[in-house]
Amino acid sequence: MPKQEPELMKDIVSLCKRRGIIYPNSEIYGGFANTWDYGPYGVLLKNNVKKIWWEEMVQKRADIVGLDSAILMNPKVWEASGHLKEFHDPLIDCKKCKQRFKADDITDAKCPNCKGELTEAKEFQLMFKTFVGPVEEDKSVTYLRPETAQGIFTNFKNVLDSTRVKLPFGIAQIGKAFRNEITPGNFTFRTLEFEQFELEYFVYPKSADAEFKKWRQARFDWYISLGIAKNKLRFQDHDKKDLAHYAKAVTDVEYEFPFGWSELEGIANRGDYDLAQHQKVSGQDLAYFDEETKEKLLPFVIEPSGGVDRATLAFLVDAYAEESVSSKSSPPAGGGVGGGGSETRTVLRLHPKLAPIKAAILPLVKKDPKLVKIAKEIYEELKPHFFVEYDEDGTVGKRYRRQDEIGTPFCITIDSDSLTDKTVTIRHRDSMKQGRVKITDLLSWITDQLK
Ligand code: ATP
Repeated sequence: MPKQEPELMKDIVSLCKRRGIIYPNSEIYGGFANTWDYGPYGVLLKNNVKKIWWEEMVQKRADIVGLDSAILMNPKVWEASGHLKEFHDPLIDCKKCKQRFKADDITDAKCPNCKGELTEAKEFQLMFKTFVGPVEEDKSVTYLRPETAQGIFTNFKNVLDSTRVKLPFGIAQIGKAFRNEITPGNFTFRTLEFEQFELEYFVYPKSADAEFKKWRQARFDWYISLGIAKNKLRFQDHDKKDLAHYAKAVTDVEYEFPFGWSELEGIANRGDYDLAQHQKVSGQDLAYFDEETKEKLLPFVIEPSGGVDRATLAFLVDAYAEESVSSKSSPPAGGGVGGGGSETRTVLRLHPKLAPIKAAILPLVKKDPKLVKIAKEIYEELKPHFFVEYDEDGTVGKRYRRQDEIGTPFCITIDSDSLTDKTVTIRHRDSMKQGRVKITDLLSWITDQLK
């Protein structure tokens, strides 16, 4: 039977630490709540998520440009955006164990942790406040941005004036955002510091509904195209009556994590709220001049706003599998776990495009200098093209298992036949099937698999 929460999440967290994917932050000092660090394989995985999003959103589209705006901004931005006034959560404290909860998560009058008495709900600002300059005084207050989107709106005019964009067009950005969150501790799902990928797609007001529908579907399909199981993904349309005052429509794309259905990304039709607000508070004209009609207008904006860390976590969780395999299925001749019987293998069935390491190069035996020489030559040839790993230590079976656990889709084994026929064995992570490929074809063979 498949494992369920909390055991499954525990196993994933432990694999992530054991294999250098995600570590607890500041661990040698006892950790730091709701903060995690990406290890050597985790950073590759997360970079792949960002790279694929950027390729899809910016590189392959003539109508979208990129941006990288600063984390610290003039505090007026947060006044205009409404964050200073609206961006807070009602929180409740337990008088006995002092734990703090979101009011939304409290279902009865007692503390869920110790059944102690609870305080009234108090509003809690989610933005981190900081000070610019040598003195901590009100005049020097600014905030760590809680979203990347505002840097896009404040640069709207700059992009219009410095590029050739015409409606409809988008500005995309990937960057860090910060929120002083109280969380139930679902690993990297909700953290104090996280990365967002956000697109602001500016459209004529009359086409906003149709564009909203297009982006809603496109963002759902993106997760599927990268291997997320379709039955684990759903749309959650917000009720019209629950929408924030500026939003005309909002849909979340949700994933079924072991801890329940939770938001990966929100797609919103925000009307002209943001540009109108910044125009009002800054006193600058942010209108778009339409060359054809010779009219000025404030475009509407469709915003697909997702979390890089949440997407990465969903890809990890969805890829995680434990399966019983026969011990014989591991090694080719000579290597091995040996014998009959069965064993459990843990495997990350990541889409090859997401996998941190694309191929591992394994000489069958370390002691044979001829095999080692060929293996090292192959490693040198492939490494300028993709992340590959050379590993000669331990049995081939054990080396396969290690690569399975970090999601490497292909293991290339060099054996005695390689010396004569100039071919190698390629072992596929998911099926564990093996086939032979000519050494001279390896680069194009792997390149094809990553398309
Ligand atoms: P939630 O309801 O889960 O708090 P939200 O609706 O406040 O999310 P948005 O403000 O719409 O989130 O932010 C867009 C995206 O940024 C979210 O869909 C999520 O992927 C990501 N995100 C937001 N807050 C966090 C966080 N604390 N940690 C990790 N990712 C986050």
